[in-house]
Amino acid sequence: MRNPDSQSPVFLEKEQGFSLPTKEYAIPDIDISLQPIRSFKDLFHLKALTRKIRSPIVKNIFSARVINLRSIESLKNARRSLEDVYFRDYETSIIHIDDMHSINVDLSYEIRELKKDTYYLEHGEDYFIDYIGKLYNKFDQHVRRGLEFLDNLHFNCFITDRDGTTNNYCGHYRSSIQPVYNAIFLSRFASLCTDNPIFITSAPLKNFGIIDVSVNPENVFIYAGSKGREFLDLDLTEHRAYIDPVKQVRFEELAAKVSELEKNPELEKFFYVGSGFQLKFGQLTIARQDVANTIAEEESINLLHNVTNIVREIDPDGSVFRILDTGKDIEIILTIDGQNGTKDFDKGDGLKFIDSRINLRLDKGHHLVCGDTASDIPMLEAVLEYTDDVYAIFVTKDAELAGKVAQLCPNTLIVPSPDILLTILGVAALTIKRKKGCKAPGIFL
Ligand SMILES: [Mg+2]
Repeated sequence: MRNPDSQSPVFLEKEQGFSLPTKEYAIPDIDISLQPIRSFKDLFHLKALTRKIRSPIVKNIFSARVINLRSIESLKNARRSLEDVYFRDYETSIIHIDDMHSINVDLSYEIRELKKDTYYLEHGEDYFIDYIGKLYNKFDQHVRRGLEFLDNLHFNCFITDRDGTTNNYCGHYRSSIQPVYNAIFLSRFASLCTDNPIFITSAPLKNFGIIDVSVNPENVFIYAGSKGREFLDLDLTEHRAYIDPVKQVRFEELAAKVSELEKNPELEKFFYVGSGFQLKFGQLTIARQDVANTIAEEESINLLHNVTNIVREIDPDGSVFRILDTGKDIEIILTIDGQNGTKDFDKGDGLKFIDSRINLRLDKGHHLVCGDTASDIPMLEAVLEYTDDVYAIFVTKDAELAGKVAQLCPNTLIVPSPDILLTILGVAALTIKRKKGCKAPGIFL
């Protein structure tokens, strides 16, 4: 029976201006005014606000609803506030960690991506593509080759990394909010040209993870964090791979000890720069350098020694953890039992775990795999165990990596930047012959 009280919230909403069941499309009335950014707290707060605006903008565009101009103005103000820190004195753009400590910051990602978003929203997609085309050498050539490469194909699985592949690298993970244009291009391709679109990232799934920096409409992508050890399926059910409880105890001990380093004034900056400190499921990351190399090498090595000593103390025989040092990040990963003793959990293991839970029919191609570093190769290898009907696009300027990918997968395309990959995918989705794709509810395309 209908509860007579159930009417009242509708009236309340009406007073606030929402009388139709479209509240979930509302772009929140956050007027981002020009504001001083003096700390990482200010920066991350501002970027979180841009996500609150960007996310419903994408949702509205996907449902063929026109967005309001005020939201564009807010994104512009967010950019101006960042420019105020960044350009006032370019050499010494300073962010304060606390009253005593401050570091130089590189806000170029944040500023550039906000600028692109407002250009996209104000001028439309054709002018936007002209605009970003001018930022890269041989842009048109790469895009044309990419469209030929995809050849109007419909893919069963679209398995992709995020940072460096579909998202430009950002100096600080917490502020690497996905831009609007990025979400439109990717989600359009995912919805129209693929059945199972999956992000597999080494960042955590949530708190603070890929979910917190993405603005794709809900129910389009499967998000997997911690290299696929944890993922959120399209019904928003969370899955987690098994971890040996004995190893989990050691992992928690490690996490506690590495967290303690933040109290050391010489080491606390590593909790803010680059990837920062990320506690994942079965994995921990701490940055020792950012993308602009703002940390002195000596300090960076000092952190590496501190972290290595902690790992040796907790795991003297090296059976529980693997340390992966990328030069930018130190990753400490819980091992799993492999064919030849213990091994670190990679993105291939992650993909197989996802398949075990939601049946991706990996033996049925075509599949498209996208990545940008050697850590993405295991997901390509994993798919190739099931079928040869696999296409790979890698975003890299590293000839050795490109060669390795091409050797593994004959259908390989190499592109030099995430924006070129995004444009290829976004435009391919406009030209593809319409087949029944995986569409999220409410998507108008
Ligand atoms: Mg990457």
